[in-house]
Amino acid sequence: MTHTRKRIVAGNWKMNCSRTEAIRLASAIVTMYDAIDNVELLICIPQIHLADISKLLINTGVLLGAQDAHWEDKGAYTGEISASMLTDYLVSHLLVGHSERREMFADDNQRVAKKFAAALKNNLKPILCVGETLQQREQGATFEIIKSQCQAVIDEVGIGAFANSYMAYEPVWAIGTGMTATPQQAQEVHAEIRSWLAQQDESIAARLPILYGGSMNAENAESLLVQPDIDGGLIGGASLKVEDFLKIYSAA
Ligand code: PGA
Repeated sequence: MTHTRKRIVAGNWKMNCSRTEAIRLASAIVTMYDAIDNVELLICIPQIHLADISKLLINTGVLLGAQDAHWEDKGAYTGEISASMLTDYLVSHLLVGHSERREMFADDNQRVAKKFAAALKNNLKPILCVGETLQQREQGATFEIIKSQCQAVIDEVGIGAFANSYMAYEPVWAIGTGMTATPQQAQEVHAEIRSWLAQQDESIAARLPILYGGSMNAENAESLLVQPDIDGGLIGGASLKVEDFLKIYSAA
């Protein structure tokens, strides 16, 4: 199948890897990476490793992302890191609104929208993560939830901002559980997101890469990635195993 949109395989290391492990993993990725036309390979790593890993990735084609950032540039926010600070480390992408941040770190739709805006202001490409819990799915509220997650961002930055952003559909019940959405379930939601956005701006919706995340691995990646509205993956667990991660990249 020919894909017209840009495709992205993004690793989300979450809070994993000592310094030594991070250097080992990133070095292995760089060594084994074989660039594919129009498919980006990205790793979103813990902030503390940015200095080391950004040096390792120079001129390799492998892109560097962060997992979160505060929306203010600076100030009295003990323990936080701003989006502007990330730009010193060749960071090009920022995960925004990952469900673990929404659930455990009080990132509600308004905060997510401000973080999205801060990413854009600092020339980082935001990857807006959206998705429903199992309970919300069972109540038939999947799309209402996703729409409100998207709408908060549109209210903050406008639909035009999606020309320079990515989105990731990550059903909360599929993250880290081994319970992947079926290709049909994922495709259905991706298509619904795209057609809803198209009512606001057809050309932006047609060009927006929408990644799938939630227990994607080397075995199931291909069946998900062949779906017409799935433009890549956001990979947690499997991104810590270099062979598996690069197999997913090849499947994209
Ligand atoms: P998982 O995580 O691949 O381990 O399910 C995905 C994510 O949280 O981005």
